[in-house]
Parts: sequence; structure tokens; C-alpha cells
Amino acid sequence: MGLEQLYEEIISCEKCTRLRDWCISQEGTKKEYKDDSYWSLPLPGFGDPEARVLITGLAPAAHGGNRTGRVFTGDTSGQYLFAALYRHGFSNQERSFSKDDSLELNDVFITNVVKCAPPKNKPDASEFSACSGFLEKEIQAMENLEVILAFGGQAFERTKRVLRKMDADVSAAKFGHGVKFEFGAGFPVLMGSYHTSLYNINTRRITPEMLDDVFEKVKHVIDK
Ligand code: SF4
Repeated sequence: MGLEQLYEEIISCEKCTRLRDWCISQEGTKKEYKDDSYWSLPLPGFGDPEARVLITGLAPAAHGGNRTGRVFTGDTSGQYLFAALYRHGFSNQERSFSKDDSLELNDVFITNVVKCAPPKNKPDASEFSACSGFLEKEIQAMENLEVILAFGGQAFERTKRVLRKMDADVSAAKFGHGVKFEFGAGFPVLMGSYHTSLYNINTRRITPEMLDDVFEKVKHVIDK
């Protein structure tokens, strides 16, 4: 199955009642976006279907991707990520604020492990389980995939579980900023980065320089 077919399958999914209700209920609840029409559907990945690099986050933000209809778009996390992608030649512009802003990614595809925004940014175990098949299909559909860069410890752990389900021996893989694990022929390299969350930015757990270091490592893997 290609990414386009998968897009249709994802946006029509209704498996998790709690998350579907939460996504729909968020419209009009935040003052600064009170006049916005929210996407509110499950959120598919976005980017270059021929990419060698896949970035995985945990789940859409209620007033970010769930509002704009594009992953990492419309919140602070995305501003840092897309600026870094631009600095490293993976995108045609450094900002991402709307689904219609002409952003194009080059050699990168971005998705979330869970496709619907969860309350408190915490999917439960049954929701992870229900949704992880979509990430597996995305990985399988990316014929040129060489590197998965997981944003944040939870995304790393859940991405790792999907790779294990695909028969990769991931037992040695442990999350950290800039870590890199290889699982042998037929599997992408798994790397980790601290998430560009508002908290991590404000506490300087992640800085633009640290993101640059990670993307330099990613480029080193795909260009070798
Ligand atoms: S989280 Fe995933 S499995 Fe659950 S409803 Fe959304 S798209 Fe479907």
C-alpha cells in the first residue's frame, strides 16, 4: 500500500472513541484560535514520499496539527523543527503555519506514532496498540527509507516497538539525544532527538544548535 492510499485509510479511522471525541471537542476552546476551523480528523504524515528520512513524533497537538491539518504545524514545536529542516536543506521554507503555506519537504517525511490528538498528550496503551499498524504501513511504504529520527523518548520507544514487530532486534536501543542504532540489512537506522516541546525549549534541554547536531548526524548516515 502506498502513502496516498494510507492517507485515506488514516483520515477515515474511527477506532479510538476517546481520541476521536477529544479531537472534535477542541475547536473553539483556545482563545487565540477561537475563529479557526479545526481539522479534527486523524492526522496522516506529510512530506516527500521518496524520502530517506522519517521523523516520528508521539501524537498531534490539540491546537497544532489537530487544528491545522498538518503534522508539527501551528505550534512552537513545529517552528523549531521546520527552521532546522530548512537550515539543512530538507525544506523549501523555514516556517510552517498552515496546510496551504506552500511548504515542501525534500528527502524527509514526518508522521506521528498515534494519529489523533490525545488528552494531556498521553495516548493510552490500547490507543497505541490500535494505531501502531499505521506507522508500520508508513515504514513499509517508504521504499527509500534509511533513517528514522524519533522526537522524544516516548516516540522513540513506540517506534522501536514497531520495528521489533517488523522483526528488528532492537534490544540494545535506548533513547538519548543524538543516539543512533543499526539493526542490520533491511531495517532503517533508528536515531533519537529531544522533542522540540515548549518546555524543552524554555529549559534549554533542546537548542537550535543541538538540533543542528542531530541533523548533521542524519545527513552523515544518508550520505555515506
Ligand atoms: S488514534 Fe489511530 S487508531 Fe485511533 S482513531 Fe485515531 S487514527 Fe484510528
